[in-house]
Formats: sequence, C-alpha cells, structure tokens
Amino acid sequence: MTSEPRRAALYARQSKADPDGIDRQLPRIRKLANERGWVIVDEYVDDGLSASKSRGPGSNWARMLADADAGKIDTVIGVDLDRLLRSLQDLLVLIEHNLMAVTVSGDIDLSTADGEFRATMLAAIARFEVRRKAERQSRAQLQRAMQGRAPKGVRPLGYATNGDLIEDEAAAVHEIFRLFAISDGPSIASIAKGLSGLEADYIPASLPHLPKRNRTLAIERNVRRTANGEDPAPVPSDGPWDSSTVLGILRNPRYAGYSVYTDRNARAENKRRTWYAQIVRDEDGDPIAGQWTPIVEPDVWWTVQERLNAPERVTNRTGSTARKHIGSGLFLCGICEKPVKAHSQRYRCEGHIMRSREQIDQFVLAVVRERLGRPDLVDTIPSLDEPRLQAIRAEIGIHEGRIKRAQNDYDNELIEGHDLKRTRDRELTKIAALEKERRNLTITTDLGGVLDAKSPVKAFDDADLMIKRRVIDFFMTVKLHPHPRGKKTFDPTTVEITPRAVPGTAADR
Ligand SMILES: [Zn+2]
Repeated sequence: MTSEPRRAALYARQSKADPDGIDRQLPRIRKLANERGWVIVDEYVDDGLSASKSRGPGSNWARMLADADAGKIDTVIGVDLDRLLRSLQDLLVLIEHNLMAVTVSGDIDLSTADGEFRATMLAAIARFEVRRKAERQSRAQLQRAMQGRAPKGVRPLGYATNGDLIEDEAAAVHEIFRLFAISDGPSIASIAKGLSGLEADYIPASLPHLPKRNRTLAIERNVRRTANGEDPAPVPSDGPWDSSTVLGILRNPRYAGYSVYTDRNARAENKRRTWYAQIVRDEDGDPIAGQWTPIVEPDVWWTVQERLNAPERVTNRTGSTARKHIGSGLFLCGICEKPVKAHSQRYRCEGHIMRSREQIDQFVLAVVRERLGRPDLVDTIPSLDEPRLQAIRAEIGIHEGRIKRAQNDYDNELIEGHDLKRTRDRELTKIAALEKERRNLTITTDLGGVLDAKSPVKAFDDADLMIKRRVIDFFMTVKLHPHPRGKKTFDPTTVEITPRAVPGTAADR
C-alpha cells in the first residue's frame, strides 16, 4: 500500500424501493472515508429510478469513470453492493477503470487482500455470466432462424418488429429492388436521392419520399421510451438518405423471404461473404424460408446481388442513367452510326444530323405501340428458364472463385502479375458472356414487366423513360437520316427502324 491517502469517489444511487434513500446513503459513505483517512474528491449521485438512465452517458456513473480515467480518483465507496452495482458486469467496469471498490456494509473491500480475492472471483463469475448469456442468446437466435422466425433487433424497412408488413415501406422496398435490378438502371446514389425527394435522373414517381431511416427508428424508439416512463432521446433531423442505407436494404436476404442469422464472430469478415452467409440453410443446403411475407422475388434479389457484385459497377460511367430524352445515346446517326446526342430540342451528330426531337420521338413511340399491340407479342417474350438461371449463377460463382484463387496466389507470390491479369481477363470474359445470357433470360424483368402486362401498350405508356428506352432497344434499332432540304413536313422515311432479332424468340427462327 502507498503512503498517499486514497482519493475517493462517493457513489450513491436512488432506487425505486427507497426513493429518498440518498440522504441516508451519503452520510454513511462520508463517515467510512473519514475513518480511513481518505480524501473525498467528489460525490456522484444517480437517479436509479430507470435502469438505463442511471448508467448511460450523462449519468454521474459515467462522469465518475471519466474522472477515474483522468487519474483524479482511485477508490469508489458505496453503502452496499446493491447500490453500487446493478450487476456483476458493473464490477468488471470498475476494475477495468482501475477503481478500487469499497462498501460501508463490508460486502466488498478491495483495499484488503481478502476483499481483492473476493472481487476477483466475483469478476470472474461476471465474465462467465456475460459470455454464457451471449452464447445463450446466439443459440436462441439461430434456433429462431432455423424455424424461420423474424430475427430480433432493429426492424428492417418494410417490416414491423414482429415481421408483419408495413405496406407503404414495403412498396418502397419493392420499388428500390425493381429499379436496381434493371441493367443500366439507376445507381444506388440516385435511388438514395429519389427516396430523399431530391432531383435525380430517371427516378419514377413510384419511388416514394421517405424520412431518413435513423429518424424514423429514433421516433419509434422514443414512443417505447415514453411508454416506459423514460425521457425521449434526441431525434436526428431529416436529411438525404445515405447510399449505405440503400445498399444495406439491397443486400438484405430477408426481403426475398430467406431466413437469416448473423454470427457475431463472422461479422468482422468480408462483408459481401457475410451477407450470403446470413442465409440460414437446412441440412440439404436449401435456404430456410422466413415466416414473413417476402417483398421481392428471389430472382430479383439474386439479380440485384449480381449487379452489386459486378466489377463494372464501380467504374460504370457510360450507363444511360443520365439520359433525359428517349433517343439520346440510343438512336443512331444514319451517316456514321454513332449514337446521337440531345441538344436542346434536337438530336444531333456533329456535322451529320440536326433534327428536331419531338416528331421523331412521337413517330418511334407510335411504332413501338403498334408492335406491342400485335397479337404475336407473346411469342417474342423469352421464357424465364429458372434451372438455366440457377446454372448460370453457379457457373459465375466458379469463375469468380478462379479469380479469387489467382488473387490469393498472387498475394502469396506464387504467380506473377501478368499471370493474374491473364486469368482475370479470361474469367471476366466468361462471366460477361454468362451475364449476357442471364440478361436475355430475365429481359422481361429488365423491361419493367411491360411485355407480360395485361395491356402492354398501356404499361409502356405508363413506364418511366428508362424502361421505354429499354423496350425500344429490345425491339428495334433507330437510325436518323438528314432531313431533306426545303421540306417542311416530317418525313417518316428519314427515320430508319430495323426490327431486332431477339435471341430464342420467333424473330430469331
Ligand atoms: Zn454521325
């Protein structure tokens, strides 16, 4: 023991059972400190009426720990163990902050060898309890997941805590997935903007504006707090959605109806792997279905995962997401066959074409409507070949695995950089071909359900610009030729429309 007198913190806590007990606690604590000749540095009194408030940030307990860290105090005195600690975990906290605990009742006294032994033992029990509780909880969580029950914790957008659908949010989730599943569809950032009600290219009105996620959750938490007689916590102000929130939604397997379980130990690993690993599978490796209503089709969910995983996502600058007009970047110049650009009210190819947009757009739209209205439309719809889609996914996985292995070999200096590059290029080419095949098989999804709608013409008219462009591109190429000089009226023969052969359809045979 040092000759320096101990610097003591007097800790008192008011409890529900004894609301005015503070007045009786403090004199007894002071008396003990004086008897031992310790310096009283400060008194820390917490209102213990609500359990969470007595130990959280802003509490005197927290201030005491901060003072311990700052080296102002080395000992804490309470009347008894019950007043000083809410649980054995609190004892661990004191020990971690190098605070020696002493109680007036003598049930703990770390200033003696005997007391120190007792505290060490209590702390060991506390650690064991914490670990056992965590294990019990994660076993219970896994069991819940195996039964397909909704995981506990923060509710995802679209679902209540019990797994029930929240209709308006679920509609938003469905729309987020639909938009992102479309090849060359809007970026995550554009979707985040759309949800925030901000101007974004190609975000249809069907994407609702929602308050920021952490704001909604904070408001809901406060309802619960108020019901428990606690003071409400601050609510974050509304603001633009973060892309990371949208990404978290797109990655969540629950929306496809897959039961999920998060292994806390696995969480730190590769994030992407963790998302797939969350899907709980039975002995045969088949995903276990959750008991909740799925919001998106599994195929849409997997399409989204593939789009998220695609290496080009990071570098894609050429996507049509910035288009504001039907034909810019889509219609071709009749002279050089490069895509035309929109230039105020005109389509232009520098030095070749300068045509007013309005009449060309109306003409092309009329041709598409006529095509969609034909009775043989059903023959043009490629059938959704589910087994082939699954095989494609598996094959893509194999090629991705080869790239990963080559990357590992390179990291371990087993192969040279040019070997890695050769493998990457070869495998990426194969993946691109598989992706293309997959896109052809899922074209009806990509076309926003226009082709298999009850009234395809109406569905086309109602579709947003991006879908219209894709439908046009699916059926035909459009080439613009210069307008004859001196001619006043629109001449349809200057707009050359060539039907496109659709793979695996009537037009192909
Ligand atoms: Zn040109």
